[in-house]
Amino acid sequence: MAEFRIGRGHDGPARVGEYILGSTTYATPLLTSSFTSSDSIIAYGAMGRDEPLSEKPMLVSLPFVSQLDEFSLPKIRDNDSVILPSLISLATISPDASELVFAYQQEVLSRITPSIDPSRTIIRIPSVAKPESIVNLTEFGSHGAAFSFDGQLGPRDFGAINLRSHLPLFMMTLAVGRIEPGLIPLLHYTGFDIIDIGHSQEAAANGVRLWKNGAEKIEIGGGYRFCSCPACAKLDTAKQEDLLNILLEHNLNIYKTIISESKEAMRSGRLRWLVESTTHNSPAHASLVRLVNRELYPFIEEFSPTTGPDALPVIGSESYNAPVVRRFRDYVASRYSAPDNKPIILLLPCSARKPYSDSKSHKRFTAVIESAMSGMESRVAQVILTSPLGLVPRELERIYPAGQYDIPVTGDWDTEEIAIGANALVTHLKKFSNSSVVIAHVSGGYLDIVRAAESKIEQSLIYTTPEGRATSRESLDALEESLLELKEILSISGGPRTELEGIVSATADYQFGKGAGKVLVPEHAKLKGKPYRLILCTVDGEQVCSYVAESGTLSLTLAGGRLLAPFKRYWVRLEAPNVKGGSIFAVGVQEADYMIRPGDEVIVINGSDDVIAVGRSEMSGREMCELNRGRAVTIRHKKE
Ligand SMILES: [Zn+2]
Repeated sequence: MAEFRIGRGHDGPARVGEYILGSTTYATPLLTSSFTSSDSIIAYGAMGRDEPLSEKPMLVSLPFVSQLDEFSLPKIRDNDSVILPSLISLATISPDASELVFAYQQEVLSRITPSIDPSRTIIRIPSVAKPESIVNLTEFGSHGAAFSFDGQLGPRDFGAINLRSHLPLFMMTLAVGRIEPGLIPLLHYTGFDIIDIGHSQEAAANGVRLWKNGAEKIEIGGGYRFCSCPACAKLDTAKQEDLLNILLEHNLNIYKTIISESKEAMRSGRLRWLVESTTHNSPAHASLVRLVNRELYPFIEEFSPTTGPDALPVIGSESYNAPVVRRFRDYVASRYSAPDNKPIILLLPCSARKPYSDSKSHKRFTAVIESAMSGMESRVAQVILTSPLGLVPRELERIYPAGQYDIPVTGDWDTEEIAIGANALVTHLKKFSNSSVVIAHVSGGYLDIVRAAESKIEQSLIYTTPEGRATSRESLDALEESLLELKEILSISGGPRTELEGIVSATADYQFGKGAGKVLVPEHAKLKGKPYRLILCTVDGEQVCSYVAESGTLSLTLAGGRLLAPFKRYWVRLEAPNVKGGSIFAVGVQEADYMIRPGDEVIVINGSDDVIAVGRSEMSGREMCELNRGRAVTIRHKKE
């Protein structure tokens, strides 16, 4: 038996896991090599070799046999994993012919299964295969799939990553071929579990020392870069015949360093950032990352958590459509509803410090708004313009990634950023009444956004920073004056304060979808707390949710879960009638909403649709359904 188990945690499709061969457990992500092995490198070899490279179970590839009738299984050890053979002209075949490759492997499988459990086999996926045929791979009974890379970072390599995105979730994913060190973070990020480092040997044989972002030809006695690795310490005194081993050891060190960096980046929620930072390796590498971003967005987004590190670096154009960034823009556009009774909409610049309201500039804006509106601040809808999130309604300023993103703040925005901002602004303002008045208290790049959107804005627009910065005394005075005038002209007077309702309701819509706010915060709801501190929301004497300032999100109670259950969103259905213990495991989940992402607040129901718990998801909804292991939900409250 072979088994692949997925562990806890996600950063995009990247995952940690365990590949279990007999009594040996390999932690993934893992490297594989045909000339060395260790705890972090699983040995790989051709079947029938006299001496296996490792005592421990390894990956062995079956040779191609053209006449299957002559096929006889070479001697194979009990726990090795078997890579099925493929047709030789694999690289050039057509999508239709790739079906032959699968049929051939199926045939080989049927001949070896009496002696080898199908779970121990790994299917080779031709890079031109049809995605439909990948989905059907479960019929093989195999627990792994191998994709090959030619190292050109072109169509074939993209094809492999694209096909990988269609693979059943429980399968171990192997990347083989010419894989340079710089590609490892992207392969890890897109969900490859074992990565072939055979290229380290090929490069060494050609006198090449590999680096994280390039390669260097080495000649004895020639000038070369300093390297602190133990192998290269021997380089200065090396003889020609030592060179191969020195370069090989160095190259291996580079692969080990980068997989370790990639694993650590995933642990700290910065793997995406690491992948973005590799785009400067080469134009071909940048093209591949951009293609993956654009074409595989749904796949990457599905596994990107809705919570993240305290500071999320968002640097340059690769971040404009990073999954958490694009998802934020999509959710604000599709889920945010304009609150009633906002005669004034105030556009403000973002601040380097997050959340915005803790920054010096926003404290000044708040002071001006309070002074001018004297008790009627909640009649002003505050909208913060920012790149690349587009805009952030004040109520959502603490939600991930709005409360955590970290951008360079020179104020120089490119045309794409301005287009993103203008687009978001037009969509946002359409939600408000045309009789509201928009105050644009912005300058520089922010002003460019408003100007770019101006012709499509239906409301009257007032600029309060004719020259200079938004925080200058003149600008702040102009803002105060405009607010005072509008208060008078629009006859804004009296009415209850609604900040708390606004925050909880907008957050509910963002988290659970449009309309959730009206259900969790009906007109007769009672709210206690302070804006952007802990807020408790009670309906008919029962607490339904609390707003948690640190995450900017709502935690549900069972009563809140019952209110939201009829919406049929963010639900997980258990096979059991009740929840036992503090966690729900994927094996016990019958169905789940595919909208669920890791980190979401979810409602747990049983077969009779009773709400039996609320908690936080640890994986995506599809994983809860497809996986048979792993923690699906951490319970917050459950029915006793
Ligand atoms: Zn070195």
